[in-house]
Amino acid sequence: MSRLRVRFAPSPTGYLHIGGARTALFNYLLARREKGVFVLRIEDTDVARSTQESVDAILQAMDWLGMHCDEGPVYQSDRFDLYRAKIDQLLTEGKAYRCYCSADDLERKREDALKEGRKPKYDGTCREGQQGTAEDRPFVVRFKAPQEGETTFVDRIKGSITFQNDELDDLIIQRTDGTPTYNFVVVVDDAEMGINLVLRGDDHINNTPRQIMLYEALGYPVPDFAHVPMILGADKSRLSKRHGATSVMAYKEMGYLPEALVNYLVRLGWSHGDQEIFSMDELIQLFNLENIGKSASVFNPEKLLWLNSHY
Ligand code: GLU
Repeated sequence: MSRLRVRFAPSPTGYLHIGGARTALFNYLLARREKGVFVLRIEDTDVARSTQESVDAILQAMDWLGMHCDEGPVYQSDRFDLYRAKIDQLLTEGKAYRCYCSADDLERKREDALKEGRKPKYDGTCREGQQGTAEDRPFVVRFKAPQEGETTFVDRIKGSITFQNDELDDLIIQRTDGTPTYNFVVVVDDAEMGINLVLRGDDHINNTPRQIMLYEALGYPVPDFAHVPMILGADKSRLSKRHGATSVMAYKEMGYLPEALVNYLVRLGWSHGDQEIFSMDELIQLFNLENIGKSASVFNPEKLLWLNSHY
């Protein structure tokens, strides 16, 4: 088995929140335990929404929690040439195509589909015959998603998951402004960085079959995937500011100890018998994927307060 390589890949569009910090921590612990490599990648291809202030806030919060990366931070905004070359490769091989459909047209077709009770999907107007010459008008690049058969992967937390390929759209991999999109760059980067386990929140599970298709089209080996169930507030809705502070640094400002927050975060989804209190060293020895639960966990600020009083 090759050396474990995992990554945390935040988009710098705000502070590091509880959910992101837990994902980072699970990756960090696994890398330490397996003597693997923990890579930090800043996903800033959405230039309009990404800020240096957020990058700094994320790095500061990770530092405070004691999660130091072995490689990085790598910035996606430094890698546009690589993404462009890979998009050209797919265009040349006929695995992607330029799509000139206007946003208005697409929106109209989308509304028609919804009205008729169909799932909106790109109708393939530009799919055939345009791979050669580029026309002098705005276009996006779409990936020609295989439509036959199904895509299956064995998630290391959730088990076997299958998607029907004809449910998957011809994904846009390059926007009209020439910038590549998330699903595409994440595949190129994870592959080029040798990531062999992608451990992330299960809000990305629907992206995984699309990404597997892209790995295959680009000739890359497909990594393992592990999707961590989400974190809910007390009312069982997705954790948000309504449920209390969700920023890691807010807990620092309130006087919490980083050890207590780490301990609390790891217990949001992972267990080891009925043990409640762990040191970082203990976690590095004990943490594993097998003991991550399959259902969502509930964020409980009182429990965090209780843990904090034990340090
Ligand atoms: N940048 C993505 C996010 O912040 C994560 C991408 C991934 O883990 O694949 O949601």
